Amino acid sequence: MNIAPEQFELIKEQFKTLKERSEFYARKFEGIDLSDVQTQEDFEKLPFSEKDDLRKVYPLGLQAVPDEEIVRIHSSSGTTGTPVIIPYTQQDVTDWAIQFARCYEMAGITNLDRIQITPGYGLWTAGIGFQLGAERLGAMAIPMGPGNTEKQLRMMEDLQSTVLCATSSYALLLAEAIAEKGLRDKLHLRKGVIGSERWGDKMRNRIADELGVELYDIYGLTEIYGPGIGISCDEHSGMHIWDDYVYCEIIDPKTGKNVPDGESGELVLTTLRKQGAPLIRYRTHDLTRIIPGECACGSHHPRIDILIGRTDDMVKVKGVNMFPAQIEEVIKFTDGASSEYQVMIDHLFGKDIITVFFETTATGDDKKRVEEELAFIFKGKIGCTPVAKGVAIGELPRSEKKTQRIFDNRY
Ligand SMILES: [Zn+2]
Repeated sequence: MNIAPEQFELIKEQFKTLKERSEFYARKFEGIDLSDVQTQEDFEKLPFSEKDDLRKVYPLGLQAVPDEEIVRIHSSSGTTGTPVIIPYTQQDVTDWAIQFARCYEMAGITNLDRIQITPGYGLWTAGIGFQLGAERLGAMAIPMGPGNTEKQLRMMEDLQSTVLCATSSYALLLAEAIAEKGLRDKLHLRKGVIGSERWGDKMRNRIADELGVELYDIYGLTEIYGPGIGISCDEHSGMHIWDDYVYCEIIDPKTGKNVPDGESGELVLTTLRKQGAPLIRYRTHDLTRIIPGECACGSHHPRIDILIGRTDDMVKVKGVNMFPAQIEEVIKFTDGASSEYQVMIDHLFGKDIITVFFETTATGDDKKRVEEELAFIFKGKIGCTPVAKGVAIGELPRSEKKTQRIFDNRY
């Protein structure tokens, strides 16, 4: 996607002093005079930033303003080693709130809504971002945080929450609890804002049907403000990204070359206004594409498609590349398979074995038929045959955070 003139102005403006303000960029762009970056082509030659680069300057090496201007930090989860710390100025916090409030507005949420926030509060950017946006909009925030389903349902009923903010797996867990307790008619929910992770249509439809809400996907990552840099609209055709705050590129994850609009690849983001920790050509490892053309909703903000996976989720089995999104497809087309599944990859007796566990209401011969159908569709779409095993609804784990679905036990 081409850099718009007003975006390029903001990029050039920050480039004027970036290397003086930030030791991180002084090193990254060593030998490059940033005032030479005058065209799209020049920009696309700049080196990428990776999460690992950010880790290396732990704790505060990304900070690009004096200490007195930093008002808070957030940190991305450190499950795989050293965390990344992102410092924010007051302006960064305000800019985040503005973008998040816009997201709520895009979803048709107003200051009369009561927004139940179930993502976690703390170092992570999730809960606090949903809260900032709700307050900026003037809606009533109900800051629950995750867990304690009983209490969630009680507050939802007593406070007449109209909006649920959650991860898709927690939304599903709540939807199932609501169905089980027959609470649906006592609730006032009308919208769901779901943190972007790749999730299938079956799961989406179940959540929407059981909660009786319209669902919106919100996008963002801790390194770049947090959730709220983009959201889907009423057309539900991709997510609009706030291009006055971030510039999007799509690259081929293998070659690092930019791909034309419409083609899938890895999303790379550049912040246009961020002060505390600006990011230039940051590789998100999220796989998506720019949706060409204008959206029927009338918004001029560009769209990225719903995420199809992560570059690091790609697994190679029996010589074929397998993406989680493809497995979603298989589940979607298998008559009798419910939304939840888990894939185990093992290496036994010198061969890779793929086992797909999926939830189904079918039993006996009927279940056998669903298993056979799933294996057949899997073979057709992905190119190798798995062992398909149907299990009862509720048997596979639900989690309050993102659900891991593919387990590679080979190494
Ligand atoms: Zn739209």
